[in-house]
Amino acid sequence: MFKHLKAVSGDPLLALIVAHKQDTNPNKIDLGVGVYKDDNGATPVLSSVKKAEAILLEQEDSKSYLGIYGAAEFEAIIQNLILGEGNPLIASERVRSTQTPGGTGALKVAADFISANLKDARLWVSDPTWGNHQSIFNSAGVEVKSYPYYDPKTNGLRFDDMMATLKAEVKEGDVLLLHACCHNPTGIDLQQGHWEVLTNFVNERGLLPLVDAAYQGFGDGLDEDLAGLRHMAANVKNILIANSFSKNFGIYRERCGGLSIMAENKDEANAAFSIVGQAIRANYSMPPAHGAAVVYTIMSRPELKAEWEQEVTEMRNRINGLREKLVAKLAASGVSKDFSFIKDQRGMFSYSGLTLEQVRTLRSDYSIYIADTGRMSISGVSDNNIDYLCESIAKVVG
Ligand code: PMP
Repeated sequence: MFKHLKAVSGDPLLALIVAHKQDTNPNKIDLGVGVYKDDNGATPVLSSVKKAEAILLEQEDSKSYLGIYGAAEFEAIIQNLILGEGNPLIASERVRSTQTPGGTGALKVAADFISANLKDARLWVSDPTWGNHQSIFNSAGVEVKSYPYYDPKTNGLRFDDMMATLKAEVKEGDVLLLHACCHNPTGIDLQQGHWEVLTNFVNERGLLPLVDAAYQGFGDGLDEDLAGLRHMAANVKNILIANSFSKNFGIYRERCGGLSIMAENKDEANAAFSIVGQAIRANYSMPPAHGAAVVYTIMSRPELKAEWEQEVTEMRNRINGLREKLVAKLAASGVSKDFSFIKDQRGMFSYSGLTLEQVRTLRSDYSIYIADTGRMSISGVSDNNIDYLCESIAKVVG
């Protein structure tokens, strides 16, 4: 039955993790993996999460089914975080939100919803984008097309090219996927003015925006990071928002995210939400409970919420501080290339501008593990390895 099957190559990033693990060089550095690491290279459980888990251990009284949308009280948590407390869209009841298994689960439900209900809609993603976007939408039978985004010449955004391609090629009803903040893999974000242009464009051309918010809090702040998304939501008729709690609560393996759908009025939103429920039922029936229970426990207790906000601030400040240090140390190392763009990027990742050849040499000769695309996971840098990293880059780049 399975004789004809040929093994597929795995995710190259996972291969990179294995290669780093097997490397015996004491100076080895892992800048591949996409999880937050502290200065000791660890990904510890946040203190606010530990406290919430202690409360849950004490108080949880059932493991019975929760329902297709997860815990009912979680809907408000998602909306308050994503849209901001007091956002009039919440009171308008035009938005419905469901708990999902991670941001990935939210995207998969969105993909199935689009595939089943928005016939012939194509999905537009940035070039490059998170690798799984393509796989998730292809698996749901949605055609994926890409718009220019990253400019290797300037290590910046090709916004004019992006708009030119979209203007020439989108069809009414197409879906436009945007990263809310901390673009993965480049670290290059849309600025407020870009969101305003895109909002008008979405309205003019009758598009459905789908915003992927996986790193809220890792750029400039919990509210600041979603200002563009909130502007768009306030000024369009419909929007889908897939969010992840994996990074900002550090609960990666608990699989907790949310999918929000906004319609023109309450009745339309409820109808669309019931169809979202069908997509969930056919996928995984119900989301896992624990991650959402942790998030809910934190967000509904002011002292835990404040502690969590402080922990997000620490993670963000560490990453942004590392960006500054990297730029300064690379410049001091006498490297010929200008790396100052690294401090303008945001979030966990940086498209470093290193070529494939340079990345390979850093790996083979210096035990520094960076993805083939040149994407570096910034939180893998620490005070212990930054000098070796910058000296090595200087030697390889020249
Ligand atoms: N969107 C983007 C852009 C991501 O980078 C990720 C995680 N790498 C996700 C969605 C999915 O996150 P989760 O682990 O919560 O499924």
